[in-house]
Amino acid sequence: MHFVDKTKVPAPKKLLGYNEKWQNYLETVAKNPKAVAPKPDNRKWRHPEILEPLVRLFHYNCGYCGRYTMNKEAKKESYDGEVDHYKPKREKPKLAFDWDNYIWSCRACNGKKLEYYDEECMLLNPCELIDTELIIYNESSGKYHLKEDIKNKGNNKKRMEKTEEKTSINNKYIRQQRQKEVKELQRFLDFIYRYDKKKGIKKRYKRKIIKSLTQSPFKLLKQYIIEQKVENYPDFPCTLEEFGFK
Ligand SMILES: [Zn+2]
Repeated sequence: MHFVDKTKVPAPKKLLGYNEKWQNYLETVAKNPKAVAPKPDNRKWRHPEILEPLVRLFHYNCGYCGRYTMNKEAKKESYDGEVDHYKPKREKPKLAFDWDNYIWSCRACNGKKLEYYDEECMLLNPCELIDTELIIYNESSGKYHLKEDIKNKGNNKKRMEKTEEKTSINNKYIRQQRQKEVKELQRFLDFIYRYDKKKGIKKRYKRKIIKSLTQSPFKLLKQYIIEQKVENYPDFPCTLEEFGFK
């Protein structure tokens, strides 16, 4: 799980309209519980004007486990994921159309999480930097775990355990996939580092890396791995910009 900055994309206009409808509905019902107010459509967050920017913001990956969420096999490319309401709509109906409450999620994670809500022990939220900075990726296990120095602080441990239970973040299959992708990426980076003087090597592997960052799983993890490499090896022959980082 890596930080996804929601502020990069403003809430789609379509959503604001829906939110207002919901507020009106809730207000009407609060004033008069017997009122037969038309309930706004619950499914509108699936509108393309809302889905598209959200999915792009998450790089087509699940916000919790990093799985790729596009259905490539279908005749027409379609989404293989769902909008997760971080705070479930049953608990917080007013947040049903709140952009900040949306996490793009794979079906497995959303299916596990369901209506989970515990004010005292919320899941780690990929859209909260303060949450994503609690954890770190471990290459030898393919897992994310709490950073050593904050492990026993507050309810971090409980939140991590809940996140593991209610999402696929450390699911065995996902871990294996992650390790496979990261291993390949490390191999490409090593080639560039070791053989950059050899004609064509740098260009060839740079291209491979850029390709592996496009429409693929674990994009943010891979970017993190590249950043680490470039930072740790000051003589690394490629800049982050060359890999398409902004
Ligand atoms: Zn997932």
